[in-house]
Amino acid sequence: MYGMKKIIIANWKMNPESATKAKELFIGVKQVASKLSNVKTVIATPFVYLSEISKLYRGHRIEFAAQDVFWEKRGSFTGEVSSAMLKDSGATHVIVGHSERRLLGEADVEVNQKVLASTQAGLTVILCIGESDRDHRDGTHLSFLTSQLESALKGISKNRLSKIIIAYEPIWAIGKSEADAMKGDELHETVLFIRKVLTGIFGKNLAFKVPILYGGSAGKSNTEVLLTEGMVDGLLVGHASLKIAEFSDMLKIAQKI
Ligand code: PEP
Repeated sequence: MYGMKKIIIANWKMNPESATKAKELFIGVKQVASKLSNVKTVIATPFVYLSEISKLYRGHRIEFAAQDVFWEKRGSFTGEVSSAMLKDSGATHVIVGHSERRLLGEADVEVNQKVLASTQAGLTVILCIGESDRDHRDGTHLSFLTSQLESALKGISKNRLSKIIIAYEPIWAIGKSEADAMKGDELHETVLFIRKVLTGIFGKNLAFKVPILYGGSAGKSNTEVLLTEGMVDGLLVGHASLKIAEFSDMLKIAQKI
């Protein structure tokens, strides 16, 4: 994916605690994000804010995402939200398979159903994968990543692959301090590994077009090294995306790379 715009995704998770605060946060980020020609900023808000927040921007530099989706189109599924509803609320993207949802019981087969349904509806899926720990002696994390990718992408046709972004988020690096994020060289190795798995499934030409992002304690101080040494196409940012100044600085750094 060399030469493409960097993709920086804000995963607000279950924050902030009111629509008013969500608007303030978005308007602050928009000041910078709307000016950057080399960065695609995607804001993943809680469902309840999506509609209101997405109406605050008209342009192509910022897009909106939901943090989850259900695979059925309509019906008796209390508490669930469909791809069509997300699109109608202004989302172009959806996060699927985030480790925090997997921790609440989401299984690989459900991740796959969500990937299939949302890409069919025309949403771009931000597919999260990542191991909970690493054992460098036996490489079990690599077979784990392979199986997560293969099961999540089962049945995805080659022409749907343009609707997939991979977010590699090693669980051991999520929600920590920036010093605990993955190191650039190790990230680069893992990105190459993910490309190899994608090549095995879809062939080299298509596999190299899939953006691969990194997530896990990305912040202002490590944005540059993650993007350059790590050789990722962008970042999925959790807690740092809730701070207007820090997130804006990260966007500005990405713009220069
Ligand atoms: C995440 O959970 O998607 C994430 C990247 O979180 P943080 O940046 O807070 O580690």
